[in-house]
Amino acid sequence: MPQQINSFPQVATIAGTDSGGGAGIMADLKTFQARHVFATAVVVAVTAQNTLGVQASKLMPQTLIDAQFQSLAADFQIRACKTGMLGDSNHVRAVAANLKKYDFGPIIVDPVMIAKGGATLLNAEAIHTLKHELVPLATLITPNVPEAQTLTGQKIEKKADFITAAQMLQNLGAKNVLIKGGHLDLPQANDYVLLSDHTGFWLTAPKSATKRTHGTGDTISACITAELARGADLATAISISKKYVTATIAHSIQVGHGHGPLNHWA
Ligand code: PLP
Repeated sequence: MPQQINSFPQVATIAGTDSGGGAGIMADLKTFQARHVFATAVVVAVTAQNTLGVQASKLMPQTLIDAQFQSLAADFQIRACKTGMLGDSNHVRAVAANLKKYDFGPIIVDPVMIAKGGATLLNAEAIHTLKHELVPLATLITPNVPEAQTLTGQKIEKKADFITAAQMLQNLGAKNVLIKGGHLDLPQANDYVLLSDHTGFWLTAPKSATKRTHGTGDTISACITAELARGADLATAISISKKYVTATIAHSIQVGHGHGPLNHWA
């Protein structure tokens, strides 16, 4: 295929939809569009969802997941990809197998487990599979504090705990780690980054007094994916993305009656 056909940066999200437009694949696509990359998607799950919660969800047949990967690989040159909601153990395994089969560039694993409304997006068996089959493929893993605690068994309260948990995630095979501290009851959202060369750094941003934070995890991981596809180094991509998600929260939009969506025009 002539090189110029695929010279525009192309990315893929491998995740679940959100009919309410705030999280999952919808948040990823809005972020990709805002960050000037061409967005493609492998739909693993469909959720019936709004700002109040997840009302129903269904996983796609695995043959259709394989077919979507194959369609993308046959026509595009995906420069970076991210995973989101993967549902159950078999689907995590199917996604990991496809990511081994096709080169979609750096793999950002957002280990989505529970939605803000409380819905489970990854069951217990699937967490085990993710830990052992997908985490080792991750260029970067981006858990929030509850997800990092579940994956490592390390309670995270103080700064030293972030560092220990990040090292444990590297021991599981993730090359680089971003642990997002926004869930802790602090005035700032402090995130810790541990890079593959074992250097670490903190990113801090003030927290907005808003409950319109639906899709924040999807958005930061999608933004990192986009920046990597455009050629940024990982530390720069993460720093840019922290600023992007902070701005989208600060200017979040008043739609729906619950955890409203972010503002990707911010
Ligand atoms: N729904 C889907 C399909 C998601 O992928 C995610 C997060 O990754 C969520 C919901 C949860 O979004 P939040 O916890 O930001 O409300």
